[in-house]
Amino acid sequence: MTTVLGIESTAHTFGVGIVSDEEPFILADVRRKYEPKTGGILPREVAAFFSSVAGEAVREALREAGVSMEEVDAVAVALGPGMGPALRVGATVARAIAAHYGKPLVPVNHAVAHIEVARFLTGLRDPVALYVAGGNTTVVSFVEGRYRVFGETLDIALGNLLDTFAREVGIAPPYVRGGRHAVDWCAEGGDFLDGEIPYVVKGQDVSFSGILTAALRLVKRGARLSDVCYTLREVAFSSVVEVTERCLVHTGKREVTLTGGVAANELLNYKMRVMSSLHEARYEPVPARYSGDNGVMIAVTGLMAYKAGVTVEPRRAFIRQRWRIDQVDVPWYPSTPKG
Ligand code: AMP
Ligand code: MG
Repeated sequence: MTTVLGIESTAHTFGVGIVSDEEPFILADVRRKYEPKTGGILPREVAAFFSSVAGEAVREALREAGVSMEEVDAVAVALGPGMGPALRVGATVARAIAAHYGKPLVPVNHAVAHIEVARFLTGLRDPVALYVAGGNTTVVSFVEGRYRVFGETLDIALGNLLDTFAREVGIAPPYVRGGRHAVDWCAEGGDFLDGEIPYVVKGQDVSFSGILTAALRLVKRGARLSDVCYTLREVAFSSVVEVTERCLVHTGKREVTLTGGVAANELLNYKMRVMSSLHEARYEPVPARYSGDNGVMIAVTGLMAYKAGVTVEPRRAFIRQRWRIDQVDVPWYPSTPKG
């Protein structure tokens, strides 16, 4: 049996996960989320918060898993992409543990991890993946050794669009209540404002900053907030589903997944499911519990990478704020700890 401890610290969540390659696979899942009272997140404040919770989060994960650090075979850490000060805390903690206990250190790309945890939990082997989160909007699929980007946002991410709009019009924070985004709550009873919000797909890429500007302008001009929320959602979600559909047709794959924080969205799931069924592809989103950032996804990916021989010397484990998914070799593909 191989057991891996994974550390996530790229954005708002300091996560520690412990997984193994035998049932029940997930042994511990500890999360400490930084929640700003107002506005966006300040990297240095997040880093200070992470530093204050890191020690007890690691101890709690070991307790939950019922293992000692000696019994852990490797330490995995998300080295990017993400915010520098936040990444540095996770990297420092992981390097210290690896060096002190003489454990192999496994570098993990956060975007790869969002997809690997989806493959692991859904059982899909070779999907087209739509990865939508607070800081990412990318359509990827594995081709010749790496996840290749088939489309992405040219400006802000889908989660950022929803969060920023909700914040600017005063319906958030909190951004998510009862598993639904503030924009979803607000869209109830809304109607589609035809032609008022630009639908932007350029080649294979999407763009959301024009949508944000147009939606905020509509609200300022007195449009009904529920109508604007309804329309913004409709337009933004349709554009990412269109790009995913083209990737599916182009690659000829038979499976589709949805991952990242926005994967918890009901309407987006509905659109993805309908599109996939039109092409007779199997659709399985990542379970909502693992859609947002967490340590388990880093541990799962670390486990696969470790077993494929991917490790890094602690003194060379540098953070990479802009580490793109298509720069990462994925030698373990398509196998997962489940087979
Ligand atoms: P991540 O960056 O992967 O942790 O994801 C966080 C993003 O997911 C934020 O932008 C959240 O607003 C967004 N999010 C979380 N739950 C939902 C939901 N049910 N619908 C839409 N967006 C969501
Ligand atoms: Mg994420």
